[in-house]
Amino acid sequence: MSEIRLARGRGRRVAAGHPWVFSNEIEAVDPQCRPGSVVKVLDSRRRLIGRGVYNPASQIAVRLFTWADEDLDAAFVAGRIEAAMKHRLRFLSDASACRVVFAEADGLPGLVVDRFADVLVVQFLALAAEVFRNPALDALDRLFRPRGIFVRNDAPVRDLEGLPREVGWARGNGPTEVVIRENGLEVEVDFEHGQKTGYFLDQRDNRNAIRPLCHGARVLDVFCHTGGFALNAAAGGARSVLGVDASEEALRRAGRNSERNGFDPLCRFETANAFDRLRELDKARERFDVVVLDPPAFAKNQAALEGAVRGYKEINLRGIRLLRPGGFLVTCSCSHHMPAELLLDVVRDAAADAGRRLWLLEQRGQPPDHPVLLAAPETAYLKCFFFRILG
Ligand code: SAH
Repeated sequence: MSEIRLARGRGRRVAAGHPWVFSNEIEAVDPQCRPGSVVKVLDSRRRLIGRGVYNPASQIAVRLFTWADEDLDAAFVAGRIEAAMKHRLRFLSDASACRVVFAEADGLPGLVVDRFADVLVVQFLALAAEVFRNPALDALDRLFRPRGIFVRNDAPVRDLEGLPREVGWARGNGPTEVVIRENGLEVEVDFEHGQKTGYFLDQRDNRNAIRPLCHGARVLDVFCHTGGFALNAAAGGARSVLGVDASEEALRRAGRNSERNGFDPLCRFETANAFDRLRELDKARERFDVVVLDPPAFAKNQAALEGAVRGYKEINLRGIRLLRPGGFLVTCSCSHHMPAELLLDVVRDAAADAGRRLWLLEQRGQPPDHPVLLAAPETAYLKCFFFRILG
């Protein structure tokens, strides 16, 4: 088997369980190494660290699958998928809509699998995942017996791996919309045209957790997508819910979801730029009892962090201003580059600017189907904080 040797002093992070070898950490590559080769990764003293897949086109030159001396083959991949599934079954009361495989965190770098009722939606986000495409599909077929397996390989990160973009059925076929159950609600998912895999499963528990805040409340759900938080607010007894998003397509589905669950006309949805709409609502002196802010990742990388912090500050300031005393701010960030402490600082600043005092009630994160691999901080990305406005 081909070998890749790391430069001196570059093996510690990987040996400690981080699955990425960066191209500038490599001292020597066997000449027979090809893109997609399974390789042994050695430290500078030629001791085995683990095994992974090589991709010279990417800055992440090797993604490790194992730190043991074992074969990386179809049986290995099937075993990892099965272990991932068992973990979900242990923790989720209803695993019919969940993330079955969360890539690096589940020991399957670059492989994402979401289950939406009788369909599996798969993303091969790295060459490391792509080379195990057929074994992975076979194992998923065998373990879940889905109506079909749909591939969403249109994520921009594929470009960084030198992989083409493609979308379509890999196994089976049929309608590309399904109805899932989440927190006792029915939610339509369009996994062909929707964002990412079609639905953001990672907020399931956080959506459920806002219900007690919403009884009798006037709720504003900003960046509402297909209505995730809005529907749970209504189920929690909200008096009225206004959802705002820039995507008309997502809002059409939000409207349908609200109707489907009997929340029409309690829930209303508006297409708008969130920044503009928040400003207008404030100017019009509209006031709410609960404001949810769940923006897209403003900071896609470290370089974009400064601008992102300004963005988070702006929406949180507006959100706080829109809340009545005693009201609740639910603020989220799905950017790994925005650590919890920094988000807290941003809200602290925003509260000071607004002249309001806040309680921090809950610091929430990712559900058990999106586990965090401790050695790989990149797998920790979701923050969801509940605040109460004291005055
Ligand atoms: N809260 C949602 C997920 C939000 S994902 C849920 O529970 O499912 C982020 C959303 O922000 C996407 O739906 C996207 O369309 C929307 N978005 C991105 N930029 C926006 C902007 N400037 N104004 C309003 N919405 C925006």
